[in-house]
This record gives sequence, structure tokens and C-alpha cells, in this order.
Amino acid sequence: MKVSIDPGLCYGSAECAHRVPGVFDFVDEYGVVRAGREDSGDDPLVREAAERCPSQAITLTGRPGAARPATGGHGAAGGG
Ligand code: SF4
Repeated sequence: MKVSIDPGLCYGSAECAHRVPGVFDFVDEYGVVRAGREDSGDDPLVREAAERCPSQAITLTGRPGAARPATGGHGAAGGG
């Protein structure tokens, strides 16, 4: 899923950047999604950040888990 922040709603509480610093950043006193992390909407922490944003400025769009492989066996999810 895609994650985005509506700059018109964000009032700069910085909660998202504190909660998931790898995805959200705090720039010019507003929360932003880090470049290249727009596809992080499936991350439970990102979902939580969206739910807890006090101004409801964080939006998740798209289908959850769309990039998931078919079931069967244990996958090795690398992380960079
Ligand atoms: S948690 Fe919401 S209001 Fe606070 S900085 Fe992030 S987007 Fe803005």
C-alpha cells in the first residue's frame, strides 16, 4: 500500500517521525514520507502511525499485501 501525508492537514506533531523514523521524516516542522518509502503502507507500524496521527493527515491507499508471494513454505524476507 502507498502511504502519503496531506500537508494541508498535518500540523507538525512529529508523532509519525518518532514512531517510524525509517519511513517518516520531519521537515520544516511538518511530517513527510521519506523519498523511496512511499510503498511502506503494509508495515504495521506505518498503519499504526496513520491511525494515531492526531490530524488524520496520513493516508494509506491501495490493496494491502498486494506484493505478497503465493503461500507455501517459509520465505526469507531480506531487509536492507
Ligand atoms: S503524526 Fe500527523 S500531524 Fe503529526 S507530523 Fe505526522 S502527519 Fe503531521
